[in-house]
Amino acid sequence: MSNSQKKINLLGLPQDDNSSYLSGPVYAPGRIREAIHCSSANMFTETGYDLNDPNLWLDAGDLELGKLHSDTAYSAIFDRVQNIITTGDLVLSLGGDHSVAFPAIVAHLDQYPDLSILHFDAHPDLYENMLDNQFSHASPFARLMETGKVNRLVQVGIRTLNKHQREQAARYNVEIHEMRDLSEVANIEFDGPVYLSFDLDALDPAFAPGVSHYEPGGLSTREALNIIHNFKGKLVGADVVELNPLRDPADITAMVAAKIAKEIMGRMLMDNAD
Ligand code: MN
Ligand code: MN
Repeated sequence: MSNSQKKINLLGLPQDDNSSYLSGPVYAPGRIREAIHCSSANMFTETGYDLNDPNLWLDAGDLELGKLHSDTAYSAIFDRVQNIITTGDLVLSLGGDHSVAFPAIVAHLDQYPDLSILHFDAHPDLYENMLDNQFSHASPFARLMETGKVNRLVQVGIRTLNKHQREQAARYNVEIHEMRDLSEVANIEFDGPVYLSFDLDALDPAFAPGVSHYEPGGLSTREALNIIHNFKGKLVGADVVELNPLRDPADITAMVAAKIAKEIMGRMLMDNAD
């Protein structure tokens, strides 16, 4: 392995203060880590990377976010992610609710000026305002599009559009692949760097019951993995968010999150090999 191999930093972002409905995602990073290391499975990605190799990734631990106000947590996340990616490494962060992705992605937008975002979610998370909280987990992609720095935002798994969010999507030129049009997603293509944000409620609750918002009619785990493996573009950063361990019987969803995380790592390693 060459010394210039970019290493993935697995970074836990345990915060759910910006959840509109339930708490619980604050407990997620530790559960996903346990599932990644669970000896019931080996450490190979389906694409052939051996994640036992210490040259490929490291565990950067959890940020201390628990008692911080949202704006302070924003700065803590932004600073840590920026610190990692400006040294040339890559970040895969583990939420937390989806609000933690906002500062992580802003740090990536500074590093990669032509960055596009591939966003898996049941929800477009485009609310101009939710419960008078600019950091709400229902709004991060509105905040991101307001920056004017996002090349393209492509959403997959969406099945909850209301009138306001359709208007927001049109306003910001968001490219939405609704679940009812799933057949189109085989051809997702980007020029340039891509950040992947994976809200676990993109998956059908039959596959991933450990989330706060049950929205039937979602992706299968395999459909999501097919997109992760096959979209065209260069994956430079990612997050897996919205696991709620308080609703996760037998850690089913933690194992799904770990599987998604491992395959995302494989994709990042493949795309950033020198
Ligand atoms: Mn979301
Ligand atoms: Mn969601």
